[in-house]
Amino acid sequence: MKCVKCRGKAVIDLRRHNAAFCREHFVEYFQSQVERAIREFEMFGPDDHILVAVSGGKDSLVLWEVLLRLGYRADALYIDLGIGGYTAASTEKVRRFYDERVRPLGTDLHVVSLKADYGFGVDEAKDRVRRPACSACGLSKRYIFNKVAAEHGYDAVATGHNLDDEAAVLLGNVLRWNTSYLARQWPVLPAGRGFVRKVKPLVRLTERETAAYAVLTGVDYMVEECPNAVGATSHLYKDMLNRLEQQSPGSKHQFLFQFYRQGRSSMKGEDRPELNPCRHCGQPTPGDVCAFCRMTAMLMDRAGPTTPQRPARTSSARSG
Ligand code: AMP
Ligand code: ZN
Ligand code: ZN
Repeated sequence: MKCVKCRGKAVIDLRRHNAAFCREHFVEYFQSQVERAIREFEMFGPDDHILVAVSGGKDSLVLWEVLLRLGYRADALYIDLGIGGYTAASTEKVRRFYDERVRPLGTDLHVVSLKADYGFGVDEAKDRVRRPACSACGLSKRYIFNKVAAEHGYDAVATGHNLDDEAAVLLGNVLRWNTSYLARQWPVLPAGRGFVRKVKPLVRLTERETAAYAVLTGVDYMVEECPNAVGATSHLYKDMLNRLEQQSPGSKHQFLFQFYRQGRSSMKGEDRPELNPCRHCGQPTPGDVCAFCRMTAMLMDRAGPTTPQRPARTSSARSG
């Protein structure tokens, strides 16, 4: 297996791109995909100040470092969620990553402790309220991301959600035809009404690719997953999509990005073709005569000797 760029020894094979890369060119590929997502979805510009939410997992740590290497102004926020030994180990990974890898690049790390700052951790919330742990945890994270970003004047909060995460969420929403969630599933959520912009710059990269990037560049990350997430349905969706991907490389990307493409064109009104007033009735039509007028003309023709009537041009002809 040879690198498609330099013909050197490849360390990773990306079937969905029909390409293999050496270490150096994989790093280049990875960073260019992050940059491309930022531009494609107009996530932020070079002068914006970004707050990266880091969990200690591979995705968010990699994201933080890549943004810095690409020259963006990015600080990070870590929330100590109070989930037993899992949190203790995550805190350690984040602290070391900060001290050893990114602090020299000139960046800040904010740390918020749910227990110390708000009086409860996710473990207590799980016992005290009748909400599932993950919903209390998700709610707390979203709240604190926004609060810290707003208080410090950051332009956007970036999370480490990758292509697999977003495709799995999309599959879950499609299976339930959860249209209100579908409408909001976008890699950028604009600022407004007190909310800071939210962005997901890793949407073009798979879980396997972020793991490879972390390993190849020596990022020491939290491998274990949160004990509360064991058995989550999102794992089932990811497995299903991976089986599809195995048989048909690129299908995960297709599934997510065709959805984005349609969303984008309907947001910009591009799914509606160029329209003109119909020659007969004045209603909007992509052609010369609208489909309704063509149909009525045909029906009249078939109805016998009476000459076809021109459909009336009404004064209130607008809509549809
Ligand atoms: P998850 O909800 O655990 O799948 O994580 C999704 C994203 O949320 C991660 O990629 C991080 O950007 C962010 N995140 C998760 N946990 C934390 C945390 N404890 N502190 C800060 N950010 C987090
Ligand atoms: Zn190469
Ligand atoms: Zn409140």
